[in-house]
Amino acid sequence: MERTLAIIKPDAVERRLVGQILARIEAAGFTIRAMRLQHLTKQEAEGFYAVHRERPFFPSLTAFMSSGPCVLVALEAPDAIRTWRALMGATDPARADAGTLRKEFGSSIERNATHGSDAPETAAFELRYFFRGMEIF
Ligand code: ATP
Ligand code: MG
Repeated sequence: MERTLAIIKPDAVERRLVGQILARIEAAGFTIRAMRLQHLTKQEAEGFYAVHRERPFFPSLTAFMSSGPCVLVALEAPDAIRTWRALMGATDPARADAGTLRKEFGSSIERNATHGSDAPETAAFELRYFFRGMEIF
């Protein structure tokens, strides 16, 4: 079994897509191990995306991620990291495969509805960033 961090980003929460996205997560066989609605501060978004701090899109990305509440979810499944990224689709919704969440629910390369950890080390960092051990079931 493997765990990954999923985020339903502020654009998707604002558009009331949380229920549909969680239904897709559960239908795909993931177990939800922790979950919380949270409005990140700019500083919390900057810490989460620290690996991107030199990128030109960093100020806009962190402003967007702190623009409203998001849903933080710890997912568990065999091969959870890869499987969740496949369900999300490519970063840019315009390039994402049909049937993926970003294709269906994303509006731009920035406002792309969901996040997923990209490797075991980043999943460990991201899960620890948002959840204490006691909050993961
Ligand atoms: P995420 O980390 O959110 O799961 P990802 O791994 O597919 O997405 P990254 O390259 O890690 O993509 O970029 C992190 C986030 O930054 C993207 O999900 C998107 O919201 C935003 N982003 C990435 N590239 C761009 C870009 N060229 N312009 C604007 N925003 C971008
Ligand atoms: Mg990433």
